[in-house]
Amino acid sequence: MSSEKKENRICQSCQKDFTIEPDDFGFYEKMKVPAPTFCPECRLVRRLNFRNERTFYKRQCDLCKEDILSMYEKNTPFPVYCHNCWWGDNWDPMIFGVSYDFKQNFFEQFQSLLKNVPLINLFFGGKQLNSEYCNYVSNDKNCYLCFGGMRNEQLFFSKNVAFSKDSADIYSGDKLELCYENIECENSYQLIFSKQCENCTSSAFLYDCRNCQNCFGCANLRNKNYCIWNKQYTREEYFKKIQEFNIEDFQNLENLKLQFFDFYKKSIHKFAHLVNVKNSSGDNLLNTRNCQNCFDIFGTGSDNCKYTHYVVLGVKDSYDNYGMPQAEKVYETIAIGFDSNENSDYYFSYFIRGSSNIYYSRDCNSCHDLFGCIGLHNKSYCILNKQYTKEQYEELVPKIIKQMNDLPYIDDIGNSYAYGEFFPAELSPFCYNETIAQEYFPLTKIEAEKQGYKWKEREKRNYEIDIKTKDIPDNIKEVNEEIIGKVIECEHSGKCNEQCTEAFKIIESELQFYQRMNLPLPHLCPNCRHYQRLKQRNPLKLWTRTCMCDKENHLHGKEKCEVEFETSYAPDRPEIIYCEKCYQQEVY
Ligand SMILES: [Zn+2]
Ligand SMILES: [Zn+2]
Ligand SMILES: [Zn+2]
Ligand SMILES: [Zn+2]
Ligand SMILES: [Zn+2]
Repeated sequence: MSSEKKENRICQSCQKDFTIEPDDFGFYEKMKVPAPTFCPECRLVRRLNFRNERTFYKRQCDLCKEDILSMYEKNTPFPVYCHNCWWGDNWDPMIFGVSYDFKQNFFEQFQSLLKNVPLINLFFGGKQLNSEYCNYVSNDKNCYLCFGGMRNEQLFFSKNVAFSKDSADIYSGDKLELCYENIECENSYQLIFSKQCENCTSSAFLYDCRNCQNCFGCANLRNKNYCIWNKQYTREEYFKKIQEFNIEDFQNLENLKLQFFDFYKKSIHKFAHLVNVKNSSGDNLLNTRNCQNCFDIFGTGSDNCKYTHYVVLGVKDSYDNYGMPQAEKVYETIAIGFDSNENSDYYFSYFIRGSSNIYYSRDCNSCHDLFGCIGLHNKSYCILNKQYTKEQYEELVPKIIKQMNDLPYIDDIGNSYAYGEFFPAELSPFCYNETIAQEYFPLTKIEAEKQGYKWKEREKRNYEIDIKTKDIPDNIKEVNEEIIGKVIECEHSGKCNEQCTEAFKIIESELQFYQRMNLPLPHLCPNCRHYQRLKQRNPLKLWTRTCMCDKENHLHGKEKCEVEFETSYAPDRPEIIYCEKCYQQEVY
């Protein structure tokens, strides 16, 4: 096939058209993988369905028998070990090793292995200190219910947050302190209820502001002090007015949220939240070059990536990944790149730390040259957890790849998986609605099952509710330590499709946080709160749209601006979307 021109293909799964660009063929050739047969979105959803962040179960460690918290339910076919046991020397994953059977499909053989090898209860990329109720995190201290983040301290109920402390209810953030209910904010201090802000201090309800202090209810501001609803006040007037807002009262706060949402809708929106970005498309990108269709990339620099989501430090030459600090040459992975070498070379794998040349493997550490392995440490040249010599390994792998193409796995709904596809949905130990697939691509039970995903029925919880939602005190001053540990009803009481836990408890450090910040108690459980924030972010999709600006003083003059861009604002959204130039003319 010529790598000079693009090709349109029909996705096996959704039957929609997708395009493979000449550059993509270049990448696939370099990685020695065939071009994909699923469209980018179906590939993304397929991966996300392997990442359960926030559905926890109580079960026993199958080695030490201690009660543990686990992302796997009680009745999994495989054993689940606590962290101490799994990382300890009292078991050997190699005893489960089997010879490759050329008469049987690869994925079926992997599935058999998966039934036997013990898995770790929760995924930590590095040492966690006093932060058990967290998952897909690393090097946190005193954190509680945090998912997908690293190096945080005293952080609660947050997702995809790094290098932050003393904050709660954050969705996607970096270097925050004393922050609450922020979405996609960075380098800020005492910032609450804000979205896409940088370097802001002692402020609330800000959208797209930079270097602002003591501002309230503002949008598109730069280097301002004492502004309210974008109007300048003196210092004295400002603090007097702020008092009147009385945000420590729950009902006032709810009204302010609505007022801010109206203000937000009327403000100017750049087509994407991009900072220091060259030749890149997507949303929420920082320091990227040549990254296409990427989302939530932070850190000091990422180059030449596509379809990659949630990077903390920096990634190079990689396609189709979710959740990694740092890596190079990676294709179709989840949660890899902790302590990685420069040339990571990970393919179709997940939960891998500090390794290289890893194919179709999971839960492996400090390994190189593995194919179809589970739970290995410090190993190389293994296939299905069986040891080979370097020569044997290098002879066998090409044969296995050929056999995978000759004998592809066909799933229940008829999708075919040859070499080059990620694991079939059926091999995920999770149900769709337990995973982050449900967070970003919510489905109903019927839709999920039609697409070949498993579905988790809601478990009867039968909580004894101590405090009904309507009886939660409106003002934090009316609350004392007696609230700690009480079972509080979630306002959604399980009726939503948001992994609602029906009830929640306030922990001691959380109460101290609300008191310190002068904020009323929440009325929703942590999962429902997370889903409300998710609704405020744009989807992981791009549409081609044109600038909506018709300002006559701009370069386009009397004609409406016709600049096209790729944006995650869907065409039916209410926001006013500007191209880079028009935005720069208005916001500076
Ligand atoms: Zn598709
Ligand atoms: Zn144990
Ligand atoms: Zn809830
Ligand atoms: Zn424009
Ligand atoms: Zn314009």
